[in-house]
Amino acid sequence: MSKSDSNSTSLSNEEILKKIANKEMPIYQIENFTDPDSAVKIRRSVIEQHSKVKLEHIGTTAFDYARIMGRNAENVIGTVSIPLGVAGPLKINGEFAKDEFYVPMATTEGALIASVSRGAKAANKSGGVTVRIIEDGMTRGPVFSFDSIIDVQRFLKWLPENYEKIRGAAEETTDHGKLKSIKPLVNGNDVFLRFKYSTGDAMGMNMVTVATEAACTYIEKNFKGARLIAVSGNVCSDKKQSHMNSIEGRGKTAIAEATIKESVLNEVFNATAEAVNEVNYVKNWIGSARAGSAIQFNSHFANIVAAVFLATGQDPAQVVESSSGYTTTKVRGKDLYITVTLPSLEVGTIGGGTGLATQRESLTILGAAGPGSADGENSKKLAEIIAATVLCGELNLLSALAGRELGKAHQKLGRNKVD
Ligand code: NAP
Repeated sequence: MSKSDSNSTSLSNEEILKKIANKEMPIYQIENFTDPDSAVKIRRSVIEQHSKVKLEHIGTTAFDYARIMGRNAENVIGTVSIPLGVAGPLKINGEFAKDEFYVPMATTEGALIASVSRGAKAANKSGGVTVRIIEDGMTRGPVFSFDSIIDVQRFLKWLPENYEKIRGAAEETTDHGKLKSIKPLVNGNDVFLRFKYSTGDAMGMNMVTVATEAACTYIEKNFKGARLIAVSGNVCSDKKQSHMNSIEGRGKTAIAEATIKESVLNEVFNATAEAVNEVNYVKNWIGSARAGSAIQFNSHFANIVAAVFLATGQDPAQVVESSSGYTTTKVRGKDLYITVTLPSLEVGTIGGGTGLATQRESLTILGAAGPGSADGENSKKLAEIIAATVLCGELNLLSALAGRELGKAHQKLGRNKVD
């Protein structure tokens, strides 16, 4: 992009720095007067001067700042780097992910990638991990207020009668967003509407927010007495854990299973199915219940979800609900049958941070970058890969606890002396 394309008026770096020092220009306006690369450098030097530090590393990047502007972040001064490793190979028997995968994980927790890889080794020796997506839909939950509960009752009748028109208003804003349902939840004279859409290969949060805003405008115009309080009334529930997400699903609802043979449990973990099953029951179910956990009956879904999210450009704040879920184990003969259920795994392979250079390369490792050949294929593939990887993380941790070797692994891989 040339300067004249991006800026109304160009100023030299010195002029910009002077204006900022004199408080004549806020730091968010720098891009209006120079190209994106220079703007980032100038802003970084403002912060260096302000903090009296030299930022030697933050400026090192593979990113094209012109792509980030207006899309991924504001007031940019550079990037932070996180070590990227791969777990695997992991054999996955999904509907969309059918192969052996090396799964990119960005983390600073020593031992995490090694532990998932060990889980994958045991799963591979037992035929791999089977995964299915059983529900798919991104939600937005606006809230309307009414003068009286009589109006609420009238509205609840009007809503299904006008569903097609509301859907038309929403879908006019997007090619890939398709409204699947609107579920009302009433509290007194307020009505929360949970809109659910299929969103192709995008995670879909921007898409469904824009579409739902258009639907809300239609509702306000056509139902006298409906007053929109907020386009998000928290029943969505975005970046918050909720029973609603756990029961109704949000993003992809993924389930994964594996049967680990007795001989493999012995060889890889020095554990038995009975011992792993007992750890899972007492730790993940009784322990979580006693601790007051509501929708997280698992050992460490968050570890795997966060690391793959960071590697592949997902919204990191959605780790909150994407890592809720349940691990079950059963003893079958002397083998261990293990499942994981992730009700609200919110992922995309297009949009958001997925187009950033390094994150896109991670998606490419998985053969899931950008749009799939069928709509939604790549995002479902990614969700299947994450669910299968989560299973390996659970299998390894539960087995390490059963074999009493968790501390040893962390001592070896996570506690090397710092400089
Ligand atoms: P987006 O980048 O805003 O939208 C995806 C875009 O890709 C749409 O313009 C869509 O066009 C287009 N597209 C092209 N091919 C597609 C395909 N095969 N499948 C799906 N879309 C395709 O991304 P988003 O997923 O909607 O939103 C993700 C972003 O929302 C993240 O950056 C996240 O941090 C942020 N976020 C926003 C909110 C909010 O309240 N707005 C909340 C949480 C997170 P069409 O729409 O025309 O189909």
